[in-house]
Amino acid sequence: MTPFSYCRPASVSEAVNMADESTRFIAGGTNLVDLMKENVVNPQRLIDITALDLHGIEPTANGGVLIGALVSNADLAWNAVIEQHYPLLSQAILAGASPQLRNMASTGGNLLQRTRCYYFYDTGTPCNKREPGSGCPARSGLNRIHAILGASDTCVATHPSDMCVALAALDAVVHVQGRAGTRLIPFADFHRLPGNTPERDNQLSADELITAIELPPAEFAQHSHYLKIRDRASYAFALVSVAAALKFDGDVIQEARVALGGVAHKPWRDTAVEKTLQGQRASHALFARAAQAWLQMAKPLSHNAFKVELAKRAIVRALSEAAGDASIQRTTP
Ligand SMILES: Cc1cc2nc3c(=O)[nH]c(=O)nc-3n(C[C@H](O)[C@H](O)[C@H](O)COP(=O)(O)OP(=O)(O)OC[C@H]3O[C@@H](n4cnc5c(N)ncnc54)[C@H](O)[C@@H]3O)c2cc1C
Ligand code: SF4
Repeated sequence: MTPFSYCRPASVSEAVNMADESTRFIAGGTNLVDLMKENVVNPQRLIDITALDLHGIEPTANGGVLIGALVSNADLAWNAVIEQHYPLLSQAILAGASPQLRNMASTGGNLLQRTRCYYFYDTGTPCNKREPGSGCPARSGLNRIHAILGASDTCVATHPSDMCVALAALDAVVHVQGRAGTRLIPFADFHRLPGNTPERDNQLSADELITAIELPPAEFAQHSHYLKIRDRASYAFALVSVAAALKFDGDVIQEARVALGGVAHKPWRDTAVEKTLQGQRASHALFARAAQAWLQMAKPLSHNAFKVELAKRAIVRALSEAAGDASIQRTTP
């Protein structure tokens, strides 16, 4: 047992003033407590943020929604506004974890959950993310669940969240407060690729607290779908997941969004490929061509080449479901 102290600030400014490299904020604790038990992280002080006033789900002036960082994953998924106007987000959350975990897990904590790479949790092995410079055994070891896109020589881990894949597709914005003030981070920029600093998962500094997630006005409620492919039907992380959202003008695609989960160090978007769907009629052939393009940069490892074909098929299926399967041209690619 590594000793640590505990405090429970009453305001956001009090919380960020207490935070530094030696501390950790704790919300639901569903990831952090496991990491502490396994000695993967050893904070000297836990800053319990659950008393902060960050539990609301409010409309914004421009027609979007502001979700407090402490809203539980369950409350968010079952919120009437989210269910009706952002069903992609509800579906993604409900595809994750278990009811008990979703009751505890917070919106902010979900963004900051750590990778599920086996070596990261096993302190008996090297791991560049846990101990920079020590090596990456996953590259040549067990890498079935690892990245096929955007990885580096130093780390091939994936981001495990389902919720984040939907938030990426919806172009959410992360509201952050630190000692230097507040800032807004577009979701696409929030998480990082590993590069040479895999120990850093995201853009936050140690004193910065996520206060809220902002959703832009809903545009994709009629045509969106979250598809998660996993080893078991529940209580398992995604091997591959797809958040697909389409906007139609008549029967022509006006806008397309696709975010992939389980394939990279962050939810994976490729806006250039998304644009190729604009102005086209939905068809299996169109979606299959786009899926090919989404995966053309894939670099599979020794045990996860199956993810490339799996991701392509999942993209076609998710986009077809989003379009409304009956309405799309069933042309064989
Ligand atoms: C068995 C199991 C199965 C799971 N399956 C899935 C799954 O299928 N899909 C999925 O997406 N997730 C899954 N999860 C992960 C779960 O969703 C996360 O553990 C949860 O969302 C983390 O939220 P939390 O509030 O408990 O975070 P905590 O554990 O409290 O914190 C996690 C991290 O976030 C930081 N943090 C928390 N809140 C803030 C904030 N507001 N600002 C700054 N830093 C903050 C903490 O310091 C810590 O580093 C699973 C977890 C378990 C244990
Ligand atoms: S993939 Fe990343 S998290 Fe996993 S062992 Fe390599 S460096 Fe560590």
